[in-house]
Amino acid sequence: MADRQWGNCKGCRYFDSHNPQPGSGDTHQCMQPELQEFELELTGDSGCNHYEARVGLDTSTYGEPGSSIH
Ligand code: SF4
Repeated sequence: MADRQWGNCKGCRYFDSHNPQPGSGDTHQCMQPELQEFELELTGDSGCNHYEARVGLDTSTYGEPGSSIH
């Protein structure tokens, strides 16, 4: 398996937002298969090393990490 990279929820494909560009203060559930069972409610500035970039996201807009669950 490839090395996992850390990233913010707002840029992650598993952040359960219908907004194409969720904000730092948006709160949604994490739908990552290994984390979904925990029903985590996270802000856009949260993040973890299960991060996978949303399709079409401009990666140059990432901010500094907020809180982390890992
Ligand atoms: S907790 Fe991790 S996997 Fe879940 S949405 Fe945030 S960055 Fe993505």
